[in-house]
Amino acid sequence: MENVELAKRILAGERRALARAITLVESNRADHRAQAAELLEELRGHGRQALRVGLSGTPGVGKSTFIEAFGTMLTGQGLKVAVLAVDPSSARSGGSILGDKTRMERLSRDPRAFIRPSPSQSHLGGVARRTREAIDLCQAADFDVILIETVGVGQSETVVAEMSDLFLLLLAPAGGDELQGVKRGIMETADIILINKADGDLKSTAVRTCADYAGALRLLRKRPQDPEGFPKALTVSAVEENGLQEAWSEMTALADWRRETGHFDARRAQQARYWFEAEVREGLLARLRREPVKGAMEALARQVEAGDVTAAAAAEELLRDYLGM
Ligand code: GDP
Repeated sequence: MENVELAKRILAGERRALARAITLVESNRADHRAQAAELLEELRGHGRQALRVGLSGTPGVGKSTFIEAFGTMLTGQGLKVAVLAVDPSSARSGGSILGDKTRMERLSRDPRAFIRPSPSQSHLGGVARRTREAIDLCQAADFDVILIETVGVGQSETVVAEMSDLFLLLLAPAGGDELQGVKRGIMETADIILINKADGDLKSTAVRTCADYAGALRLLRKRPQDPEGFPKALTVSAVEENGLQEAWSEMTALADWRRETGHFDARRAQQARYWFEAEVREGLLARLRREPVKGAMEALARQVEAGDVTAAAAAEELLRDYLGM
């Protein structure tokens, strides 16, 4: 299909066109990459009203149950919801696949919802680019809310936070000493911490855990992009579907405040810069791995090993003669 035609169908909200375009941006084939770049350019600037919500949590905390319940609540309010995933595990031996439709059966049948599992890529940089491009496609397809799911492992949280307008951290009820287990960095990244499973026997523990986190959040330095009271901690039950509307109200209140104060657009601009710089770094590294640079680098490395030239001088030579810098 021609790009112009594909773009038109995406803008018209045809989900098959959207799925097809995402397959295109996920492909490594050079001709697909070229077509994808053209398509994204065609769609650039279309439908930027979506709220991009990052959601992180360790396996078993209830991410898919939450997304199923929360997403269904939103579509019930007439909103169009897309679910994407950033899965850092290349092998994916254990655990379920993020964004797997069988984990969200109701939502995957919902005409207002679109679920896409994480692309299988060996490195996080590749996953990050493809997810960003999928987000752009979903924005063009006029989705109201784009949920980007990840597990709290390694760099994936940072990657998702850098492509989200709001970032949620989903936690399970736990004793007080587990509080230290959450990395400070991620607490500082989160806009809203949701303590899930606040039901049945776990309810009182969840309420206590929530109070602990609320206390810890109050100790954090106030961020300019937050109104009074944020970041905040709330309890939810994905299974009993409690607290979901409250969570959504807090999310929209925060997003509205940021839109009114300019922080929303400023964050998007800063993120665009972040990804531009990441792409430049990735591109440079990719060129180093390609011939003839790779061979020249190896030859220079041997000279450095032998002590014939200093590391700094050899690096200068490589950059100048082979990368024109
Ligand atoms: P994920 O790995 O983070 O996606 O977690 P799942 O959504 O697969 O949930 C893991 C387990 O926790 C499942 O057995 C769920 O039924 C259970 N679970 C999820 N949400 C809740 C909740 O709100 N309350 C309770 N009691 N269990 C929940």
